[in-house]
Amino acid sequence: MFDLTTRDIKYLTGVGPQKAAVLNKELKIFSLYDLLYYFPYKYVDRSRIYSINEIDGSMPYIQLKGKILDFETIGEGRTRRLVASFGDDTGVIDLVWFQGIKFIRGKYKIGEEYLVFGKPNVFNGRINLPHPDMEDPAGMVLSNMGLRPYYGTTDKMKSNFLNSNVIEKMMATVVQQIQEPLPETLPPYIITGHHLMSLTDALKNIHFPANPDMLRKAEYRIKFEELFYTQLNILRYSKDHQLRYRGYVFENVGDFFNTFYHRNLPFELTGAQKRVIKEIRQDVGSGRQMNRLLQGDVGSGKTLVALMSMLIALDNGYQACIMAPTEILANQHYETISKLLSGMNVRVELLTGSVKGAKRKSIHAGLMTGDVKILIGTHAVIEDTVNFSSLGLVIIDEQHRFGVAQRARLWSKNVQPPHVLVMTATPIPRTLAMTLYGDLDVSVIDELPPGRKPITTIHQFDNRREGLYRSIRKQIEEGRQIYIVYPLIKESEKIDLKDLEEGFVQICKEFPEYTVCKVHGKMKAAEKDGQMQRFVCGEAQIMVATTVIEVGVNVPNASVMVIENAERFGLSQLHQLRGRVGRGADQSYCILVTGYKLTEDVRKRLETMVRTNDGFEIAEVDLKLRGPGELEGTQQSGMAFSLKIANLAKDGQLLQYVRDIAQQIVNRDPEATLPENEILWKQLKNLRKTDIGWAAIS
Ligand code: ADP
Ligand code: MG
Repeated sequence: MFDLTTRDIKYLTGVGPQKAAVLNKELKIFSLYDLLYYFPYKYVDRSRIYSINEIDGSMPYIQLKGKILDFETIGEGRTRRLVASFGDDTGVIDLVWFQGIKFIRGKYKIGEEYLVFGKPNVFNGRINLPHPDMEDPAGMVLSNMGLRPYYGTTDKMKSNFLNSNVIEKMMATVVQQIQEPLPETLPPYIITGHHLMSLTDALKNIHFPANPDMLRKAEYRIKFEELFYTQLNILRYSKDHQLRYRGYVFENVGDFFNTFYHRNLPFELTGAQKRVIKEIRQDVGSGRQMNRLLQGDVGSGKTLVALMSMLIALDNGYQACIMAPTEILANQHYETISKLLSGMNVRVELLTGSVKGAKRKSIHAGLMTGDVKILIGTHAVIEDTVNFSSLGLVIIDEQHRFGVAQRARLWSKNVQPPHVLVMTATPIPRTLAMTLYGDLDVSVIDELPPGRKPITTIHQFDNRREGLYRSIRKQIEEGRQIYIVYPLIKESEKIDLKDLEEGFVQICKEFPEYTVCKVHGKMKAAEKDGQMQRFVCGEAQIMVATTVIEVGVNVPNASVMVIENAERFGLSQLHQLRGRVGRGADQSYCILVTGYKLTEDVRKRLETMVRTNDGFEIAEVDLKLRGPGELEGTQQSGMAFSLKIANLAKDGQLLQYVRDIAQQIVNRDPEATLPENEILWKQLKNLRKTDIGWAAIS
């Protein structure tokens, strides 16, 4: 059979070794198959010509026919541009080029007819077409052109003459070579049952749609398949896991839990906390191994839920551990939990990279004898050298980077895997949760402890410093503490650190009567902790920092969060940062400081932050603005296979639909043995091969 995967792209007409190398490197396209799965990012209707008097600035790509009346070069330096007046029978419009001016000027002639093609843009109230495509209309048959595909290209590709047109030609050659149907990747009963286009037709039409309806059907088939396999993968995996492992049964709620609940618990649980604890109790009592995701906004009281779940494990003779992403957070958990358990006879230990020597030995020994009941730590706790006598529950805190693969590694520590509770303060949109954590049951804490005042968020331009400093001073005089945060992006680390240092100097000068501390990721751990500690204990009133304070730090007395260059932060990051304040009973503020020039996306982000404190709403907006691929952590967190065409922000309904289908299949064929599903399991295996994390699991 004609196998596209084994045909090297290099041998395709018009490609050759040099272009092939660029395609390998830039797009990871090696075979004809890879090329065929490189989909257009848009289509343009070239079957119709507009007249100039019809155009408005909101139109998509359009096509005009007319003549160049005149050329003119305008502006200096970066604004230097070539403007052509272009006219048809109905009016005149400007064509504008910022680059390649000399080339354009030489190539196109005044008075000749051209087919011009571009996206209308409004500048100073006038409509123009920037960098249009120009073609000689002679010999062009419009009705044959139909919907033309446009392919994304990189600079490197363009400089090697691999523009969208060239890719289109390559694609046409490949599509022509497909004489017989390609092997199907879905079984016939799914294709007919859900009225899907065949794979071959879908791939042909996704590149060269016969008409808009065929394009829609092709897109649907491919999206369906993409989303379906993400769900089949995760559900198949979860079923496999269920069949293979039993969970420890925590039958009793005993002394540890009850003593804590009746004697130590400093406040009433919120309704949401009670509900979630009940859900967890049901899980751990069921005989199934718990795999649960606990979502709750910052400050919603997840730690308490974690602790009470651990006490249930203890009541049944098991140990529990909690894993935090940083030492600081592990420390904080250790302190909080030790305090909450005071007077109870529970040995709690802290294990991080900096615990060494005799102390470390004693902890290891205590874990082996079962004397250490609760272990709190960083990733150090899952090192191979750490062994428990009876680990029954693992809690993973604040981890958006803990995907299926990492969880699987955890299970392999025991013959029988412990129950796992993953806690996250980054609310995840439902569609993303289904894809990333689709094997987990989900609990949500959707209620904050009583008495919290919603944080007031303000957007301010950075030239209004005096007002800002006045507000800060007023808050400090009232006994509050202040965070001032600077962005730190890897690529511009040096410049960013300079921003932070300058900010620090300026703040020290502005507030000589107060103590200012400084924290950034480039500091040694000990120094960082020292600075952090000065703020936590109240010695320093102001902390100037990069985003290292993002996760989990709890200083209830801090009531103001100033975020400098807020335009450079993503929405979820802004929300995470804001969550550092508003932990006490006082009114808290978050001040987003930006320059004047803001893009549409940035405006939307700021507007969303000012409007709402609801993490779920923010997560949804974030997903829409950035697309799931860009969302923090999704790369590493075990998103099964990359989505080329489906979009988790837009295709939520389809995702739910295909998840239900996948669930039925897995229930009916739990051992993956039914012949009718052979194609499915084979394809799943193929897909898993492309991802290292999954390969390790299956
Ligand atoms: P999260 O980890 O969800 O961000 P924490 O567990 O750190 O939140 O809790 C935030 C603060 O709220 C802590 O100071 C905690 O003691 C307090 N808290 C938790 N639950 C309650 C409750 N039911 N009533 C009052 N305060 C609570
Ligand atoms: Mg927390």
